[in-house]
Amino acid sequence: MGFLTLTGDSDRSSVSGHSFAPRSCCSSTVGGALYSAAVSDTETKSQDARPQKVKVYLESRYRKLERGLPQTIFYCPECKGNRRKSRGCERCEGFGKLTKDSVQEMIGRKAIPLFRAKRGKFHGAGREDIDVLMLGRGRPFVYEVVDSRGPDADLTRLDEMIREEYAGRIELDPFRRVERERVPYWKESKFDKLYRVQVELSGEVSPEVVRALAGQSFDITQRTPTRVAHRRADLERHRHVSIQTVGECVDGTLSLDIRCVHGTYVKEWISSDDGRTTPSLTSVLGVSSKCAALDVLDILTDD
Ligand SMILES: [Zn+2]
Repeated sequence: MGFLTLTGDSDRSSVSGHSFAPRSCCSSTVGGALYSAAVSDTETKSQDARPQKVKVYLESRYRKLERGLPQTIFYCPECKGNRRKSRGCERCEGFGKLTKDSVQEMIGRKAIPLFRAKRGKFHGAGREDIDVLMLGRGRPFVYEVVDSRGPDADLTRLDEMIREEYAGRIELDPFRRVERERVPYWKESKFDKLYRVQVELSGEVSPEVVRALAGQSFDITQRTPTRVAHRRADLERHRHVSIQTVGECVDGTLSLDIRCVHGTYVKEWISSDDGRTTPSLTSVLGVSSKCAALDVLDILTDD
């Protein structure tokens, strides 16, 4: 492969690691000398002053082993992280966001300097709630390094740095360079998910009724949950939940492994959300039930 584009379009080009030319080929000196005859003085000047910046797309899967960790930057809902507005913001105390870390920022702190960039974007194949663990094979995502001046950075080094710094909090599959098309692929694909839920029961349920849950499946109707109603349209959705495994019921807490179609509100399937989800585990068991903990065991991707 020859030179990457040396026009002002460079910001929009995406590069695959396998075809990317060695650094020396892309330096502004070489590019400038080669192209100086063909472009105007002003163009030459701007190219020389600005080393080439490209986007790099890195694909991996993450496992999230800590509750309270959001997938992406958790901007303060009051000031939206706006620097000027956050100064007097009581909600975030001027911090601009509500958690110190997110999966996105943990990766960015290592990837952005390594790729000599200023920022990155996180494109996840869906997302779990902040208090939900992401286990199993992890959740696929693409991390986009924007305007990299060092796109040929060593991915093994990146893997190592993240492993060293964040052991026990997040785990990532080895990164690989991909084309931009992987972003819409993961964004638009819909996959079933396996969850493990810990259900808190408010009353006695007979062991026979609990055991009989295994293998049952439910076509459910869910109105937009009250907890997200402020940012989502109030709609009715039809979803499917099947109970795969029923664990022991210890001290009023029952463990279930369930399979759900994309977009199921699991917590509301358990609680019924004041009757907005029907049927719910609460209606099936006849006692009010609450989600005490939730883990994603797997995202049933095609590969
Ligand atoms: Zn704020």
